[in-house]
Amino acid sequence: MAVVDLLLPSRCAGCRAPGPSPCRGCASRLTAAPVLAPPPGVDSLAALLRYDDAARALVTAVKYRNARASVAGLAPAAACLVPDLGHGAVVTWAPTTPERARHRGFDQAELLARAVAAHLGLPVARLLERRPGPHQTGRHAAERLGSAPSFVARPPAPATVVVVDDVCTTGATLGAAASALRAGGTSAVHALVLARTPAGRGRR
Ligand SMILES: [Zn+2]
Repeated sequence: MAVVDLLLPSRCAGCRAPGPSPCRGCASRLTAAPVLAPPPGVDSLAALLRYDDAARALVTAVKYRNARASVAGLAPAAACLVPDLGHGAVVTWAPTTPERARHRGFDQAELLARAVAAHLGLPVARLLERRPGPHQTGRHAAERLGSAPSFVARPPAPATVVVVDDVCTTGATLGAAASALRAGGTSAVHALVLARTPAGRGRR
């Protein structure tokens, strides 16, 4: 390993070039997220990027390689899109399956939520438990639409919650999270994702 990698251990998750992640070149290929209606039960949905090939490289790095540099690079930009919710709001995340979190050693949604909360100066708490069920990555779209995840809220319920996830496709995950939070007593649910697919594309 070169000394520079010890001193400046960051690499771009898109092209692996040493330095910030994303690097300037990869960042210039990213496209702003499409503006689409939030899923049912979600008051607002903020998304940073359009989920295309350039965004996929970064999101995949966060998901599978624990690319903390990418989280640190993307989370503040995403956090700026959250509406001003005042001080009572709490940040949480839509947890991945326990098997996946164990396998990877981390939950990428939790990493993102913690970085976003730090940037917003809001508390972060694990408010959702995922009910056992089939996971989503890599499954056929139609199959996935029929197997949306299901969550249960942990008390106490904050009045206002920001749910953070990496990608929104169908909105089924965020809708399920909002439904659980509302059932637990939360009255306002806002969502923030790194990337969102354009309407009518393959999904989760
Ligand atoms: Zn790059």
